[in-house]
Amino acid sequence: MKLLTDYSLDELKELTASYGEPAFRAEQLYLNLYAGKDYPEMTNIGKAFKERLLADGYVARGVNILESFVSKIDGTVKFLYELMDGNIVEGVLMRYKYGNTLCISTQVGCRMNCAFCASGLEGLKRNLTAGEILGEVIAANRFDGGDLTNRKITNVVLMGSGEPLDNYDNTVKFLRLVNAEKGLNISYRNISLSTCGLIDAFDRFLGEDIPITMTFSLHAASDEVRSSIMPVNKKYGVDKVIDAAKRFFEKTKRRVVFEYSLIKGVNDSQEDAALLIEKVKGFPCIVNLIVLNYVKERGLASTSRKEAYRFSGLLEKGGVQITVRRTMGADIEGACGQLRAKYINKQ
Ligand code: SAH
Repeated sequence: MKLLTDYSLDELKELTASYGEPAFRAEQLYLNLYAGKDYPEMTNIGKAFKERLLADGYVARGVNILESFVSKIDGTVKFLYELMDGNIVEGVLMRYKYGNTLCISTQVGCRMNCAFCASGLEGLKRNLTAGEILGEVIAANRFDGGDLTNRKITNVVLMGSGEPLDNYDNTVKFLRLVNAEKGLNISYRNISLSTCGLIDAFDRFLGEDIPITMTFSLHAASDEVRSSIMPVNKKYGVDKVIDAAKRFFEKTKRRVVFEYSLIKGVNDSQEDAALLIEKVKGFPCIVNLIVLNYVKERGLASTSRKEAYRFSGLLEKGGVQITVRRTMGADIEGACGQLRAKYINKQ
């Protein structure tokens, strides 16, 4: 099976030419694909050509919305996407004043096994292809009544299941596809990639010249604490992550974000705050404080609201710029770190 959304417009042109089709056919096909259409809906493409593509194993729509859950609290939508092989990944559409942000997955499961996260509970099943990651955006755009001329998704965050830099080639290709001028044309400035800190892959990424916003999952300022909750820290420790963030800033002059989920009794003490201040002081970054979302199998508890205020107050007093992440879609398990399809288990 080959997925047509894995192809850039130029690659589609080559493909259609190899079938003896005129050049404009590729553009027609492209418009159909980006509108989220499958072959039967592509009424402007000849039946014979579609049948040849099908017979040769080309899939037009590799990502289908299996179910969607709309939050009664804030209109957030959680999608269960079904992939061609029956695997399921999740995405979350969040509505803000400035536009709609889609949080998407890059892998089925995850290898990183962070102690608080639901995505790594069953390990990594497989990587998504670039066209599948793109398919999540196309499907959500269509769900909201959008197509290529009327975009409903303005921002994308690679913060769903999976570690994007552990699926390097597909993630990079996805970023180029979603940014393509004739495609969804989502500006790099409106895209954020969150990584647990695979620094070798990150340095390679720096060389790609893709000026997106970088977010690093820090969650602790000491190696002792970070290693106890993030196995990846044994290879890429706190200082390596912060140094990498500095290299990114040097190169792009874009402020990086450090994510810090507050976990009761683990990373929320005064000493934790003091060490964090020491590590990032003077570096133009933002620490995004996240209230830990409860994941039953993980058993870790969130810092209380009161303690979280105390912690954020300490950071501010120490000169660290902070933001506090709002929890959205809490009633539909759309919250950060909770993404894991339970659908299969229910069947
Ligand atoms: N692999 C990427 C993307 C993960 S999800 C990364 O590690 O950054 C995006 C963010 O959610 C990460 O900062 C992750 O650490 C955080 N997260 C995971 N589980 C969480 C939970 N239960 N509560 C709050 N945040 C969580």
